[in-house]
Amino acid sequence: MNCELCPRRCGKRPGYCGAGERPRVFRWGPHFGEEPPITGERGSGCVFFSRCTMKCLYCQNSPWSWKGEGKDLTTPELTAIFRDLAIKDKVENWNLVSPTPYLPFVREAVQPLFAEGIRLPFVWNSSGYERVETLEEYKDLCDIALFDLRYSRNTTAVAASQAPNYVEASRAAVKWAYSRSLNTPHASLIARILVLPGHADEAIENLAWLATEVSNEVPVSVMAQYTPAYKALETPPYDRAVTEEEYESVTEAAADFGFENGWIQGYEASDPKLALLGENMSADHGTVS
Ligand code: SF4
Repeated sequence: MNCELCPRRCGKRPGYCGAGERPRVFRWGPHFGEEPPITGERGSGCVFFSRCTMKCLYCQNSPWSWKGEGKDLTTPELTAIFRDLAIKDKVENWNLVSPTPYLPFVREAVQPLFAEGIRLPFVWNSSGYERVETLEEYKDLCDIALFDLRYSRNTTAVAASQAPNYVEASRAAVKWAYSRSLNTPHASLIARILVLPGHADEAIENLAWLATEVSNEVPVSVMAQYTPAYKALETPPYDRAVTEEEYESVTEAAADFGFENGWIQGYEASDPKLALLGENMSADHGTVS
């Protein structure tokens, strides 16, 4: 497989992310902790794909994102997951968590369901490290673009996530999703701003960019929930939660830039006891909590 799905454009599989020739999934099930329009009443049907195009040293999901735990699936097996989420769990949507290496398989897997009249909105749940060409090619899998703006400096993106040109890639992805939300009735965008310890200024720079270069009407989800995990435990400043002062500097900036749509987590979400840690989550089907 000649893979150019993400900005790394490896040209082969396995490439940088380690994804192979079949879709690999770690866990799937209803998630009740996403943003309100995504969670709805019945939960969002998350599918956590193994491997990731980013390598974040603080990743909470390292067992499957870095280490590749999960099961290689046939297309009918992936179809069955989407069917069960829709029919048995009765979720609100199919939430594709870091799906980029597997987009062709997802598209193939849902075709039989469409033929049966089973169709849910897709959430494309992403770090934002995307290629616009890929977004355009697979836009049928993107009803709600849930995209991060994680860094405003590529030096940080490389140091913390091994992601060259992250800033250009994520901003182009957000612009693409915003433009689509204006022109396509069922399409929408939520920009996630995860405040990182020692890097609150980058969250503010991304909010400034979003307000000036895109629109302050974009719904933003400002998050305090960063919790040190994996390699971050021994890599300052990622080995701590965000401080209240750091977090407030970002929430105040969001207000100053005129963002009124979206959600701002309370600072208490930074409490590690509240963290959703993928490291503690088991494989296969189950509620995500
Ligand atoms: S999805 Fe994986 S294999 Fe494909 S270009 Fe990106 S890192 Fe390389």
